Amino acid sequence: MQKIFLTGLFIFLMSASSAFASIEVISLLETQGKGDPALLIGATDKMKEKYLPDGKLNSQILAFYVKIPGREILFDTGLPNGNISKRLSENGIKPEDVKIILLTHLHPDHFGGLVADGKAAYPNAEVYVSKIERDYWVNELKNENVIKALGLYEKKLHLFEFNDEVFDGVKAIDASGHTPGHTVFDIKADGEELLIVGDIMHFVDIQLSVPDVSVKYDVDPDKARETRKKILNYAAENNVKIAGMHITPPGVIKVKKNETGYEKF
Ligand SMILES: [Zn+2]
Repeated sequence: MQKIFLTGLFIFLMSASSAFASIEVISLLETQGKGDPALLIGATDKMKEKYLPDGKLNSQILAFYVKIPGREILFDTGLPNGNISKRLSENGIKPEDVKIILLTHLHPDHFGGLVADGKAAYPNAEVYVSKIERDYWVNELKNENVIKALGLYEKKLHLFEFNDEVFDGVKAIDASGHTPGHTVFDIKADGEELLIVGDIMHFVDIQLSVPDVSVKYDVDPDKARETRKKILNYAAENNVKIAGMHITPPGVIKVKKNETGYEKF
């Protein structure tokens, strides 16, 4: 049994492989809203009419707290002074209980929640991020917000390379394109598998059906497109659930191929 929780709303999904949950996912909703279709790259008017009936993009920000045997991990942290720590509390998890944070990349809606009132929001957490990603934001762009946030965790900051097994059963997959060090985490436990896919998609209503559509947030839209197709193809072929920070809540879906791209089921 694999359990997926959304802030108090409990959803149970059967898994054929095990009678007990080996991978338990708590979905943490930061915000929901509407976005401007001008953010899309490569979407025709016809596509917009078909996939965006109200002419707007549905947008949301999530983080995930995942329990695997022997370990609990917070994947991304939402916005600065945002709602993720509140959502954790609603699930009985205090900020000091969070011991491990894995970051998919260093955009503000993913690392921002590391900081609360100018201090480390998770005082006992070790923070892990791709070395390429850290170097890009800190050394190349000299982004002050990133420098400040990571600085609060200085002695507890760990850098990994693509293909590293960050922990037993948690592998860092190269998902670059959205940002240079954008990482997908492949979690495996007792025959179950879950991909934390970060920002391979921002607007599932259109990008799942037409994975060729990219967004202006992508540092390298062409590479982001290739990555999106690679990850979705893997998930569909292997029947693996994906959890995405901008997928419609609870943000965990299975995908299968259709004529234009993919659909959830
Ligand atoms: Zn994002």
